[in-house]
Amino acid sequence: MKVFKFGGASVKNADAVKNVASVLRHFEGDSLLIVVSAMGKTTNGLEKLVKAYVDHDAAAMQIIYAEIKDFHNEIIKGLLKRADSHAYDDIENLFIELECLLETQAEGSYDYNYDQIVSYGEIFSSRILSTYLKESDIANRWIDSRNFIQTDAHYREGKVDWDLTSTIIGRKLKPIVQKQKVVTQGFIGQTPDKQTSTLGREGSDYSAAIFAYGLDAESVTIWKDVAGVMNADPKRMPNAVKINGLNYTVAIELAYYGATVIHPKTIQPLQSKGIPLYVRSFMDPEAPGTEVSTAIQEENSTPFYIFKDDQAFIRISSKDFSFIAEEHLTHIFSLMSACNVRANVMQNSAISFSLVVNDDPKKVDVLLEALSKDYQVNSERGTQLITVRNYENADLKSLLGDRKVWLEQRGAKVLQLLAAND
Ligand code: ASP
Ligand code: MG
Repeated sequence: MKVFKFGGASVKNADAVKNVASVLRHFEGDSLLIVVSAMGKTTNGLEKLVKAYVDHDAAAMQIIYAEIKDFHNEIIKGLLKRADSHAYDDIENLFIELECLLETQAEGSYDYNYDQIVSYGEIFSSRILSTYLKESDIANRWIDSRNFIQTDAHYREGKVDWDLTSTIIGRKLKPIVQKQKVVTQGFIGQTPDKQTSTLGREGSDYSAAIFAYGLDAESVTIWKDVAGVMNADPKRMPNAVKINGLNYTVAIELAYYGATVIHPKTIQPLQSKGIPLYVRSFMDPEAPGTEVSTAIQEENSTPFYIFKDDQAFIRISSKDFSFIAEEHLTHIFSLMSACNVRANVMQNSAISFSLVVNDDPKKVDVLLEALSKDYQVNSERGTQLITVRNYENADLKSLLGDRKVWLEQRGAKVLQLLAAND
């Protein structure tokens, strides 16, 4: 039994959906659970729709809703085998359902409304995919992942009830997947009150891992538009190379530093059951891609590069140039937590304490103001944090050029540099 995950890019138009079917033809005899994300950029569109709904902006709501509906109808049109086919009629009903929801008054919190509306993206995509596969003689059953993934009522960031979820998946879903291929949604779950919840943006990888955990699947494959896990974002480093194998521990570390190929929460449930994760290209389903597993013992010595833009560098010293001591640090951390700011890097010296944080102006401005009351504070905005694993093999010169480096931190394997933008 295997779990496959197809992200938004793999179902962004009719040709892409057809390609998913052709990937699946390579796995005819396999028991598969197929997890799919919303099509293309639908989630972003739905986020705008939520805002218009909560703001009672009927005009905006109409425009955005029509865009989302047209986008899906265009895909359906491209998938129709016969112009008079009624195969996709039930998707029209789902749109009517969403339309009815939008006509009601918004009640409850923003996050609650967000989950009720944004979750439609995955419902639409999974319905369309399941229908298209059936039309293409790939037998499958559509299931609603909300019946299986049980979360708390923390909307937009639902916390999974692992015991309940894995029990239901093992008992109810496993026998279904043993019999036929199943198509379901990523990203969405259900609260104890039977309301829809979501697992956080880009959460479909995580859903795949949750299902794999409950099913005791033999593997999870994330099908992407890249050959596998690369040692850098190829958009930033054209000479980026594909990594064949990666140990779980290293994968977690890379995710922690901000590598975006694998959703950080995905790895832990897989690691705990020793389920290997494959990242493979949906354009080249024969190619092996990248394997992430405990079986990969060999430490890969290829340097990995992770970039984080828009970083704020904050240097804090005491007003009287005394040492920054424990009580100061406690105070600084409490201010950070009050402003909801997380440190990406910290460095301590005799009379100063430095922080690198995501430069979210709303939060950072408040933090800087709060700090200035008790400390001398200097800040540098718009810097870039570069994390390099295996830096001894890295070409730092061409990475940095003659950019100013505001901060440098070296561990045995990991080097972090905070560089000015030009
Ligand atoms: N559709 C959701 C998002 O775009 C979940 C996902 O793609 O993983 O955030
Ligand atoms: Mg997505």
